[in-house]
Amino acid sequence: MKTLNECPRRYVHHHVVGRGGWPGGPRQDDADVALAWRLGSRRPHSDLMMRAVSDGIRDRLWADHQDEAWSAGAAEAMLRSRIDESIRMQDGCVDAMELDSLVEGGWERLRAIERAPLISLLERGERIDEWMPLDRLDPLRQDGARLYAAPDLLARSGSTWHLVRISAQIGRREPLESQRLELGMLLAWALEQPGLPREPARFIIHRLGWRGHRWLSWRQRCSETWLRDSRALVEHDLAALSQARWKAGPFTELELLPTTDQKRICRGCGYREICPGAKRLLVFSDM
Ligand code: SF4
Repeated sequence: MKTLNECPRRYVHHHVVGRGGWPGGPRQDDADVALAWRLGSRRPHSDLMMRAVSDGIRDRLWADHQDEAWSAGAAEAMLRSRIDESIRMQDGCVDAMELDSLVEGGWERLRAIERAPLISLLERGERIDEWMPLDRLDPLRQDGARLYAAPDLLARSGSTWHLVRISAQIGRREPLESQRLELGMLLAWALEQPGLPREPARFIIHRLGWRGHRWLSWRQRCSETWLRDSRALVEHDLAALSQARWKAGPFTELELLPTTDQKRICRGCGYREICPGAKRLLVFSDM
């Protein structure tokens, strides 16, 4: 939903016009739909690096959980290969010096994860009774929408359950209020899972995030109020989505939709070369 809030036109172009246009999707043979999907999926290279870091952390946690060997050399090579492949798929080629620099930044994060708060307890087998990594893409349904609200890691210590979200880059230790409400949806996910308690106070939500060369931790015990406010935010976002669709009309006319007024968002957007909104905001050198 972040994209919708940042730029309704971009969200609708990607998720409505481009729907089904992903490789292997039901509308991949329609050139306009496939292009809309491909441009909407474009990400800054730093985002692709962070996605590769998240995948690497997930590999590491699964290896630890399964008591399998984890090799630093193999993990770094996999990180490089993931970043290289994602940039090549998006842009068709990779600049070798830029790749080295992205791998360096990603490897610093991945190597340090074993010393991160909470993760270091798992590594040492201390104070945690049971734990397991999870697939964040396991969706939760709310009002007919699919929400990706699963944590990256679930752990139990005595009667308390910890729901951990890992972020390869954060702006500051404390989440913004909107981010805190998004994190609250981890509890909505947990309350749907068989075998987990039904009382919010039995859960603590953690955010582990990378900032300034180290992993920082933020945590908060759950409550009914937090859950209610988080659900209200999702309802608000879903209403904004249907309003954006409604504004675009039955033929999805993108011109009818509002665009961002922030250059930063246009600069990272795959539609910037064909979008009138970007032409208004960006000078030629930004394109
Ligand atoms: S280029 Fe800018 S205005 Fe146009 S869709 Fe992208 S973010 Fe929105």
